[in-house]
Amino acid sequence: MNHNFTQKLQEYGDKFYLLRVSIGPVQEFIIEARKTRDLHTGSRLLSLATWNSMKPIFDQFGPDFIIYPYLGDSTSCPDSIPNLYMAIVPENKLESTVNQIENSLHSFWNCVNKQIMIKFPASAYLKYWSGQINDNFYMNWVAIQITKEELDNSYKSKLKNIQKFLDERKMTRNFGAWKGNSDVKCVQCGHRERIPYELFSELRSVEKFKTRIKEREWLCEVCLSKRLLNEFDIIGLNKVKFESVSDISARSFKQLIEDNAEKDEINDFLSSVNSLKKVLGEKGSKIENLSGEWFYKEYFSFRFLKNQYGLKDDSKLRKLAEKSHTSLEILEKVYHSLKSKPCKYYTIITMDGDDMGKLMSGDSLDDKDFTIDYQTNLSRILSESGGNISDLINNDGNGYCVYSGGDDLLAFLPLENSLKTINEIRSSFADGFEGLIEEPTLSAGIVILHHHDPLRRGLTEARQSVDNAKKWFRNKDAFFITLRIFSGSIITWSSKWTIDDFTIQIKDGAVKSYLVQVIDDVLNPFVLFMTAEPNKRLSPDFIHDLMSELPSFYEHKTKSKWSFNNKMFKAEFKRLFKRHVPKDSGLGTDSWNDQITMLDFITEVFAYMADPDKNKQMNYEYENQVKENFEHFLKITLFLAREQDRGSDKQ
Ligand SMILES: [Zn+2]
Repeated sequence: MNHNFTQKLQEYGDKFYLLRVSIGPVQEFIIEARKTRDLHTGSRLLSLATWNSMKPIFDQFGPDFIIYPYLGDSTSCPDSIPNLYMAIVPENKLESTVNQIENSLHSFWNCVNKQIMIKFPASAYLKYWSGQINDNFYMNWVAIQITKEELDNSYKSKLKNIQKFLDERKMTRNFGAWKGNSDVKCVQCGHRERIPYELFSELRSVEKFKTRIKEREWLCEVCLSKRLLNEFDIIGLNKVKFESVSDISARSFKQLIEDNAEKDEINDFLSSVNSLKKVLGEKGSKIENLSGEWFYKEYFSFRFLKNQYGLKDDSKLRKLAEKSHTSLEILEKVYHSLKSKPCKYYTIITMDGDDMGKLMSGDSLDDKDFTIDYQTNLSRILSESGGNISDLINNDGNGYCVYSGGDDLLAFLPLENSLKTINEIRSSFADGFEGLIEEPTLSAGIVILHHHDPLRRGLTEARQSVDNAKKWFRNKDAFFITLRIFSGSIITWSSKWTIDDFTIQIKDGAVKSYLVQVIDDVLNPFVLFMTAEPNKRLSPDFIHDLMSELPSFYEHKTKSKWSFNNKMFKAEFKRLFKRHVPKDSGLGTDSWNDQITMLDFITEVFAYMADPDKNKQMNYEYENQVKENFEHFLKITLFLAREQDRGSDKQ
């Protein structure tokens, strides 16, 4: 324990409480989100609520008294802060501190609501605003006594106790839950009662609310608050770069547009969109502020815009028909001139550290090694790792990070390069813990979906995918991809991040083993084969042919065992490859690790992935899915290649 902290503790005697607090609800913020903006506000609001509830502790005793999360010198709420914290509180201050925490949480939320109500057209709305709102946040807390001596010598066992108590208490809420008894539920959360008709219709009659609350979009007070928080940037919520998932899917294309802003077609496009926006009652904007939807052809449909903006006036409708048609024509010229189109898919990623609970409670460490300092150090690493990962997403990945707590991540990435970025995140996470007795791994759920697919479903699947990744492999440390094609079919593929026992025969006949990165060494290079220059590339028919021959390499050994003819597979793989690559293209002839050709490497590694005998890290119940898993891998490479090639007119 650092000297300053020890001294501060001594001022309060030698009896303390370990206090553990969690603020909720958490899942609600994620599940109820319809737009990325809702998600941003929800996550930020929860961070701010948690931060405000902690305030009485660090104001009174100092930041050192909060053991987890690590706050450092931050004087304002960090972007992502876990909703669970642990602190040391002097024994005689427990009751007053807990009261202060509760009050601080309540007054934070009241203050937010006051700011929302000021935005309302007239104070008359106060009469429609009920107590529903009071229920938005709740806290659970547990405290156990600890002496200074125990803090120094038996911290680990005390921590175990408090963990156990909190798990039991999580079942109950501290504040009375609001119970709706009406069947007119909110369209967003679906479980709270919606606002009174009078309030809804009066808000809709005011121009500035009209565009924010759509016709029939009947919200409850909590969802309405969140929406208005978004729209009016109340409580200084950071401005979000992305409003909707189309902003994310179109991100790379938009970048291309910005890079070519001087082109005539692009100038024409911008002015036509701006005059169309004027008809719709919106302000014109610069190209960098144009939201993602405007780069998609289907957005210019007359009927869609008419409904979306609720236009009724005949002269406006005539203008709308004319302007939307012109804009659409110019957009097609832009596609043609840039030889590209916006991608229709994007990636949701959730990541979760493997066995972090065990790490945080020092399961594999001796009591004497798992000290309060050790835990403070872990807290610091997690907080730094969270910041680094968030930077990777927002800067290098050109994406949007909703929450990054260090071992827990929810983010959105444009499809292009998303897998590369995800791989980088994994390395960055591992690097953070370097030198620690135990270096944790993490697993990822990756959902690739169409920008018109419901966001909520994507979020649920992302959560399920990360759970699946952990289930499939014995030591976790894996990823699970769910590709949801707009036509409705779903392709899932799971893999460890690395192949640890990959061996090849090198030039002189010796056998050498390598660590193979599945995304960077296998998936990406193979996709590059299919997206090379048209006169050099591997035809997608290669995959179709390989898949149709695949069953002939497998044989049923026992009820659940398959054997795989490795030799035959490799021979056929090479034969098909050569057939589907243009003559003299040189594809696959460059060397891999200065040892063998790329084609030899890809052949070996594909044979490894297809072979049930090689996939020994898979949990028993998934072992007989190796063949199917391999087929899905092939289909995903095909999809990625097709999406990268969307500039051509096939789509
Ligand atoms: Zn609601």
